[in-house]
Amino acid sequence: MTRAGIVTVAGKPNVGKSTLLNRIVGQKLSITSEKPQSTRDRIVGIHTQGDAQMVVFDTPGLLDPVYELQQTMRSAALRALEDADVILYLTDAGARDTRTLAEAAGLDSPPKAPVIHVVNKTDSVSRMQLKAEMERWPDAVFVSALTGDGVKDLLDTVRGRLPESEFLYPPDDMSTQSVRFFAAELVRETALEQLGDEVPYSVACVVEEFREDRSPIYVRALIYVERDSQKKILIGSKGARIRSIGEAARKKIETLAGAKIYLDLWVKVLPNWRRDSGALERLGYKSR
Ligand code: GDP
Ligand code: MG
Repeated sequence: MTRAGIVTVAGKPNVGKSTLLNRIVGQKLSITSEKPQSTRDRIVGIHTQGDAQMVVFDTPGLLDPVYELQQTMRSAALRALEDADVILYLTDAGARDTRTLAEAAGLDSPPKAPVIHVVNKTDSVSRMQLKAEMERWPDAVFVSALTGDGVKDLLDTVRGRLPESEFLYPPDDMSTQSVRFFAAELVRETALEQLGDEVPYSVACVVEEFREDRSPIYVRALIYVERDSQKKILIGSKGARIRSIGEAARKKIETLAGAKIYLDLWVKVLPNWRRDSGALERLGYKSR
């Protein structure tokens, strides 16, 4: 008898959802950042161990729909909740958030799948604080996605809640998404890292060409920004910034792909893409 199902990781921005997914899958799939909103679409990781397979959805934060990008993020997160067999509701041990998932997500009724409350970042609080948190949430599972502490127990708990089912994917698969998709995410992550707060949230990335028949693998990627001034910042003096982004991103893609990469990186201006539904769709932020 095997068990398999969809495990959706939900919670506010910055609680460590992407870090937990990477920890569960044992691979860096989802980009993580100290800046909230770094995950824009749902990322799927697959964890197969023994007789159980978890198809793990990372979700964008459940945000207030302020502008269109955030609305598509929110609907992706809500969809991942509907599809779930088990929901992990993540909160931050250091932040005193007392809302339930249904409250935080503004749901009309509680989700149909069982919800496991996971308190993350146990490494970031004092032992006394941790004890107080444990008394406050007697049913929660306490973990540190960063150090891996408690994650094995969490996986055992999840396993017990999965429905009996054939495996949904071959046991060796790590993700349902392609290296090409992750290449774009890694370029975007690197740009966010190197830009600091200069070009916040205006960066999108698309891989236009991904040729595995060449050696090194040829990857042509476009970074989109919203304004000319942002393009100048991204390129930097004599192209220094974009070269440095390209070099760091190339190394990350090589680690993921396990092969040499030639990264051909370009910057384009797409005015107000975050408020333009056509552009959002083209950039892969689908709304249903
Ligand atoms: P998400 O927005 O919920 O996907 O959060 P991320 O996974 O991107 O993490 C947000 C920030 O919290 C990053 O800087 C992570 O390194 C950090 N973080 C995540 N998990 C932990 C943890 O268990 N302990 C500590 N100290 N930091 C963490
Ligand atoms: Mg994330």
